[in-house]
Amino acid sequence: MAIESNQSEQEKVALIRQAIRESGDHWRRKVPILANTNLIGLSIFIASIMGVCVSAYFYLNGTINALVCILVVAILTSLLHELEHDLIHWQYFKNNKLIHHFMMLGVWIFRPGTINPWIRRHLHFLHHKTSGTEKDIEERGIGNGQAYTALRWWIMFDPVFGNIAKILLGNESRKAFRVARLLAAYFPFGIVAVSVWYLFLGYHLTSGVSHLLGASVAWSDTTLVLMSYINQAVVILIAPHYLRSFCLIFISSSMHYYGNVDSVLKQTQVLKHWYFWPLQLFCFNFGSTHGIHHFVVGEPFYIRQL
Ligand SMILES: [Zn+2]
Ligand SMILES: [Zn+2]
Repeated sequence: MAIESNQSEQEKVALIRQAIRESGDHWRRKVPILANTNLIGLSIFIASIMGVCVSAYFYLNGTINALVCILVVAILTSLLHELEHDLIHWQYFKNNKLIHHFMMLGVWIFRPGTINPWIRRHLHFLHHKTSGTEKDIEERGIGNGQAYTALRWWIMFDPVFGNIAKILLGNESRKAFRVARLLAAYFPFGIVAVSVWYLFLGYHLTSGVSHLLGASVAWSDTTLVLMSYINQAVVILIAPHYLRSFCLIFISSSMHYYGNVDSVLKQTQVLKHWYFWPLQLFCFNFGSTHGIHHFVVGEPFYIRQL
């Protein structure tokens, strides 16, 4: 089976879909446990969350330093991102809604700066339908289709305030409504995460600048106690979130094409050159494998990797 240049676009798409499905079936025949999607999804869910808790414990008792904790948690939560995407496509526990929604909640709490996954489900189905067009709110919400200005970089580092700035600077109507709708989509965990993050940055920036100027800020005892908790939260969950999220957003908003997309063949490219590896490491090789997903949505992420 090979793709010929004289075949129609539909024939090419059908051949690619067939090859992807056959490859998935091949792996399930070779390693039968791979067919037990619920078991594998739940095992990865529990192992990743336990890994985050163990990293937090080792960081808090001084066994590992902050950087190691941030890197390990970012990698573990990249698995939770893949699970969230599979859950959005109803891959795990479709017939047991209690476990399904419990997993949705879990992957949200441990990736606290992200959008509500139940809201994302609607945006993501729209993404598959309208990929590469102006209607694809999910991709546009992470900067796709926009020039690489300071605003795009801000959106890629922080979609919450970056998109609020985009709304306020743009000339579309109903700005207050749009901002309120965006904040509601991130409520509550996303709002908590972004608040903790900017408090952390603001505090350390103020302390750092005053230190450089030869002065020191007389923070109150309450502020210092609060900041010690904020510092810990940043190392354990918030900084890993922003690192992982930036890598994923950079790869995703670069690998999905924008404009002149009129077929699934033109929706994505494959980003797997060696210099993308530092980014791919924190988004579970998304750039290499997401293109496959646009052809066949019904395969879990580990089959795609294989
Ligand atoms: Zn996509
Ligand atoms: Zn999808």
